[in-house]
Amino acid sequence: MTVEDWLKAHEAEGVAFIEDFVRIESLSADPAYSAEIARAAGFVADALRHAGFPAVEQIPTAGNPCILAEWIVDPAAPTILVYGHYDVQPPDPLDKWLSPPFVPEVRDDRLYGRGVSDDKGPLAIALFVVRAFSEVAGQPPLNIKFLIEGEEESGSPNFEPTVAALKDRLSCDLVVSADGAMWRADLPSVTVASRGLVAFDVTVAGAGKDLHSGRHGGSAPNPIRVLVALLASLHDGEGNVAVPGFAEGATPPDPLIEAAIRSVDFKSGGYFDAIGAPRPDPLPAGTDLLTRQWLVPTLEFNGISGGYAGSGTKTVIPSDATAKITCRLVAGQDPDAVVDAIEAHLRGHLPTGYQLSIARHGPGSAAFALDPDQPGLSLAEDVLEELLGQRPLRVAMGATIPIGAIFARHLGAGTVFFSFSTADEDYHAPNEFFRLSSFRTGLIAWARLLTRLGAMR
Ligand SMILES: [Zn+2]
Repeated sequence: MTVEDWLKAHEAEGVAFIEDFVRIESLSADPAYSAEIARAAGFVADALRHAGFPAVEQIPTAGNPCILAEWIVDPAAPTILVYGHYDVQPPDPLDKWLSPPFVPEVRDDRLYGRGVSDDKGPLAIALFVVRAFSEVAGQPPLNIKFLIEGEEESGSPNFEPTVAALKDRLSCDLVVSADGAMWRADLPSVTVASRGLVAFDVTVAGAGKDLHSGRHGGSAPNPIRVLVALLASLHDGEGNVAVPGFAEGATPPDPLIEAAIRSVDFKSGGYFDAIGAPRPDPLPAGTDLLTRQWLVPTLEFNGISGGYAGSGTKTVIPSDATAKITCRLVAGQDPDAVVDAIEAHLRGHLPTGYQLSIARHGPGSAAFALDPDQPGLSLAEDVLEELLGQRPLRVAMGATIPIGAIFARHLGAGTVFFSFSTADEDYHAPNEFFRLSSFRTGLIAWARLLTRLGAMR
């Protein structure tokens, strides 16, 4: 029996495995679920042992544990590290679910349940494929490690320190992520880049206390007026960031991503309709919008506060005003340098008589970009092309997936996102589902990918 035959013969067992996994209410956002988190960590560790891993360990962190499994079959063979997570998003709003979130249900060849697409189903594929190799061949076709975390849905606060501490044990030639998602159900894709993120507040202060706008209006400093003028200086009339040094170090994207942007026929009118915004005139090209979402760094205002914002009026001149800002970064930009450039620009435009302060929210994360020539990437693309009938597009993600940058920084390894969930599967929303057709394809795809990575010497 071949590994692929074994997988086909055991599909129902694989689905039952996902169902058992989904029944565990492993919410990382709410401490009330810590017993369920522990149960999910144990479930993953047991599954790894059952798949044949000789070494499986729970790694404690300052938060939820990571599970590390290692199977070295031949020190001369290539080594991959598989990434995934066992925690899930909260299921609210519960009344929008057609079947209870933690009671898995199959309807129309789709499995419904919280976490089934993100990331329990895709993680189950990777686990089940290792088990198939051990049942059929006694061992996997290469050295394989799994690092499965339990805080991804809460921003992975303890993941980077864990990777840094385990650096030597995690060493590998390539990371293969079971997390991530294909961009569109009708279009095979691999994510090869995602933007980084840095967040901070800008506060402008004037007088030492709030003042009466009748007594002091016209003479006292008004921090709201100065703050909005400063904010307005950060972009040009077309919305491009106008801060000198902002994009310092940014490296050009993989040309295949630009080719993908040209090929997908992204409709800009439909985009504005879908987000409920009036269509601009003239309408920008779809390629321009997608380029801005994927490949251009941003500086966005997320909130602004100062003075009185309740109902009615209050005749106040506030002592300070604050804007919340986040920047999405592209490969090559350094989060610290970006904030420094913005701060220098703001200080250069700050009128005398005001004080400016910047408060960072964490260190931020650099963008991720996979080396376009990474051999594991073209093997993954070959497998997807065989199984899905067309060469997958190389796509970027506007949002931030920190793991790619973390693995690059600490392990020096590229990350190939090889998830079989699809962006339309309502993860993070009610009625999350996972296409069982993707499960079946994913099993064969992972089996072939591991075989071919193992043959690379
Ligand atoms: Zn996920």
